[in-house]
Amino acid sequence: MTSLPHEAASMTDIIACSGAAAKVIDGKAAAAAVDAAVAEGVRQITPTLGRIPCLAVVLVGQNPASALYVRNKIRRAEAVGMRSVQHRLSADVNQKTIIDLIRQLNTDAGVDGILVQLPLPAGLDGARVVQSLDPTKDVDGLTSRNAGALVLGAAGIRPCTPSGCVFLARRTLGDLTGKSVVVIGRSILVGKPATLLFLAENCTVTLTHSRTGDLPRICRQADIVVAAVGRPGLVKGSWIKPGALVIDVGINRIDSKDGQSRLVGDVDFESAIETAGFITPAPGGVGPMTIAMLLVNTVAAASHRAGLDVPDPVAAVLPR
Ligand code: NAP
Repeated sequence: MTSLPHEAASMTDIIACSGAAAKVIDGKAAAAAVDAAVAEGVRQITPTLGRIPCLAVVLVGQNPASALYVRNKIRRAEAVGMRSVQHRLSADVNQKTIIDLIRQLNTDAGVDGILVQLPLPAGLDGARVVQSLDPTKDVDGLTSRNAGALVLGAAGIRPCTPSGCVFLARRTLGDLTGKSVVVIGRSILVGKPATLLFLAENCTVTLTHSRTGDLPRICRQADIVVAAVGRPGLVKGSWIKPGALVIDVGINRIDSKDGQSRLVGDVDFESAIETAGFITPAPGGVGPMTIAMLLVNTVAAASHRAGLDVPDPVAAVLPR
């Protein structure tokens, strides 16, 4: 049997998988379970709110991937019973027009959550636009106030993609206390908040990036590897400790041999599945969970703003 470090000794489910093909985690099924709990939350708070919780989405420009993400977010919001409002602006819009729109949405009592689809077209300052959001409606959890709350461990809205990663890890492994986690990528959107969220689960976290030396060796120590890089197939099976959980955040469009393009993750799925105990597919893993967490944040924002008891959809699906 493969020898595992002492902290992994209780992970009998992972040890049992050593040497065998990994279990592939169904992100769509996990997201559907959360969506069902969100839908219940929407049903509960709507009568007291006196209106349906509402998500406003701002899309700037014609980027096809962004347009697809926005369509999926709106479709899922409506499927859980929320109202959604879409604001489309052309790529040549000036920064002030976007910020004016956000200020209007900030003060609109009928809007509970505001999402600005990133990245914005070249020439626009996405960070400044994000900072103009009312933090209580910042359902992506990216404003300074929400980022600061995450660092302090205070109440606030947590970023969707890293929250989805932690959810999948907890659903797969249960209590994460003592697990060693390697996060690859230090972006504000994914890598940094993922590090803090796994830390809050009592994991020991190593945050790595493009200047990290001997990344394969560091990854091989990890019970959980989170790849958020934007480099197709960077993480190989030989980087993974046998039985580990691999969470692939990457979404990269590459050309196939048949001339078509397709989406792949940051993990070389074919080799990693041979070594890992559990692995998320890309697409179909973290992506659906990102939207589920957006809906969780929106129903929570609606509840908080109305001073209602917040039904926590994650707690309903993942009891402590
Ligand atoms: P990003 O802002 O471009 O950050 C990429 C990070 O990867 C940077 O910290 C960079 O290091 C690091 N990096 C680049 N090359 C590396 C290498 N060879 N070895 C180690 N680290 C390396 O990207 P992001 O916004 O975090 O997104 C990452 C990926 O996740 C993308 O494919 C994106 O499409 C995807 N994504 C998916 C979802 C979803 O819902 N599934 C959501 C968001 C993002 P430096 O800081 O040193 O440059």
